[in-house]
Amino acid sequence: MSEVAAQTTMEEYAVSEACIACDACCNDFPDIFIMNPEHTRAKAVAPSPKGKFNPWDIIYVCPVDAISLIKGELPPAPENKKKAKVEDLPPPEDNRPWEVRWAEAKKRGPESEWDRMKRYGLASELEEEVTKYQIRFALPNRVPDHQLKYKWNLPEVMPDYKFDIKLSQNGKTLFVKGWLEDDHVKKLCGIANSFPDRFYREIILGQSAKEVSFNYNSKDKVLDVFVEKAAIH
Ligand code: SF4
Repeated sequence: MSEVAAQTTMEEYAVSEACIACDACCNDFPDIFIMNPEHTRAKAVAPSPKGKFNPWDIIYVCPVDAISLIKGELPPAPENKKKAKVEDLPPPEDNRPWEVRWAEAKKRGPESEWDRMKRYGLASELEEEVTKYQIRFALPNRVPDHQLKYKWNLPEVMPDYKFDIKLSQNGKTLFVKGWLEDDHVKKLCGIANSFPDRFYREIILGQSAKEVSFNYNSKDKVLDVFVEKAAIH
C-alpha cells in the first residue's frame, strides 16, 4: 500500500488541555489513548484505521470535549447520538454560584459506605420464604458530590436506572443488570469517585427458581426483585 493510501485510511486524534484525566478514553479506546504517568492528561498515541470506529463515538466519550479528530474525515454527527450538553440543563433552583454550593456540599463530609455500595448494586438484602426469594436493592438517591456536579448544574436527585433482570437457564442464578441513561449525569461517571454508569450482579440462589419479576419504586429508589422457586420433586 502506498504511503498516501495509508494516510487516508487512518484517523488521528488529539487531546486538548481541557482533559481532566477521567480515563474514559483510555478505558474505552486503549489502542488509541494512554494516560500520562502523572495521571493528569490523556494522550492520543496511535492512529486508528478508518471504519474501525465512528469518530463521534470517540469524541463523545470525553465529558469535557477535549478530544478532536485531527486527521481523517468527520462524518455528520449522528442524530440519535447528539451529545448532551450541560448548557442544555435548566438552571438549578438554588441559584447561588456553583462554587458556593460546592463549598457547602464539602461540609457534609464523606458519604457512607452503604451509599457508595448503592452505585454498584451491592446495597441489597435477600429474604427467603418457602416458595420465593425477595431481593431488595437500594439504589442511589443522590448524584455523588464532585465539584463538576455543581459546576455543570447536575441534578441533586439521581435519575432512574434501567434494568435487565433474568434467571440463568438452570434457574440457579439471578442476573441483575442496571444502567444509567441520563447523558448529563453520565458525564460524571469515571470522574466522581466510585461512580460507574452501570452495575452487574450475579446472585446464586440456594434453590432453583422458575420465574422472576420486579417492581421499581422511583420515588424511594428501591428495586424489589421477586423470584419464585421451582417445585422440588
Ligand atoms: S475522556 Fe477526555 S477528559 Fe477523560 S481522559 Fe480522555 S481526553 Fe481526558
